[in-house]
Amino acid sequence: MPQILDGIRVRDEILGELKARVARLSAARRPPGLAALLAGSNPASEIYVRNKIRACDELGIASETLRLPETVSTAELVARIEQWNRRPEIDGILVQLPLPPQVDTPKVLLAVAPEKDVDGFHPCNLGNLMTARPGPRPCTPAGVIELLRRYRIPLAGRRAVVAGRSDIVGKPMAFLLLHEHSTVTICHSRTPDLAAVCRQADILVAAIGRPALLTRDHIKPGAVVIDVGINRLDRRADVERIFGGAPDRLAAFDRKGSVIVGDVDPLAAAACASAYTPVPGGVGPLTIAILMVNTTQSAERRLESC
Ligand code: NAD
Repeated sequence: MPQILDGIRVRDEILGELKARVARLSAARRPPGLAALLAGSNPASEIYVRNKIRACDELGIASETLRLPETVSTAELVARIEQWNRRPEIDGILVQLPLPPQVDTPKVLLAVAPEKDVDGFHPCNLGNLMTARPGPRPCTPAGVIELLRRYRIPLAGRRAVVAGRSDIVGKPMAFLLLHEHSTVTICHSRTPDLAAVCRQADILVAAIGRPALLTRDHIKPGAVVIDVGINRLDRRADVERIFGGAPDRLAAFDRKGSVIVGDVDPLAAAACASAYTPVPGGVGPLTIAILMVNTTQSAERRLESC
């Protein structure tokens, strides 16, 4: 039986440890502060921001959310961020992506002061990551490393394949694995024979955004499979096919009208991997936990330096 890498358990562990650090800061100086910017009315973004703010409340991190209309301009967003950059009690600035189409997203992300960039998306912090200098790391890939560390999965000298090359998941994931001394290959939409490359992996990370794309053909028997993908299935036939008619998933579909699946065929992961992250309940819960870590670390750094 493969080991299931339980992201909810690891999230709870991380948040439990963090609570004491937040309490220490609050008693000595002030609580860490996070400001979140939400533009437009993307329902998934609304849920993500709500969950992040809830995590702040539970830990005692001060937070505020600024909601701006779908029609907001790049200049207005940059001006708001610059105001937050100047406010000393704000340690972290979170720009919920995606921004509306007319907005120049790279310009907005560039406006966040690097020392308040708790998502780790600023080019300065991506440079810090690449050169292994201290700084906030992008939350999802950092969560994957934390999960692997806490399950004592060895990375040094092992072959890692990352499928997906986005700036927020695939590329930073590859650098974090490289810093753990894995031999890393990055695949993407133009990689010929994706299955042959993935089959070389001792550690296979899927961050593609295509439901159950990676199958038995992609997984070396005994590999550790990390599934970052979050894809919504809204056709019952797909749920039936992908989950092999599993009654719990079909019941969930009948109740909610959709279910979530990762980028890895869940039956293939269960059959071939030595350990794998389920979807949901694997990588997903760790992203917010690492955001809380990054915000607290930013507050610790900033309060120490003044
Ligand atoms: P993205 O769309 O920015 O990037 C997808 C990457 O996959 C691209 O680099 C592309 O080259 C590659 N790709 C696309 N089709 C491919 C194919 N057929 N074969 C090989 N590679 C292919 O997506 P992203 O933001 O990196 O997110 C990836 C997935 O992870 C999505 O499902 C997203 O919802 C999920 N995600 C989850 C979390 C979390 O907290 N668990 C956080 C961020 C993203």
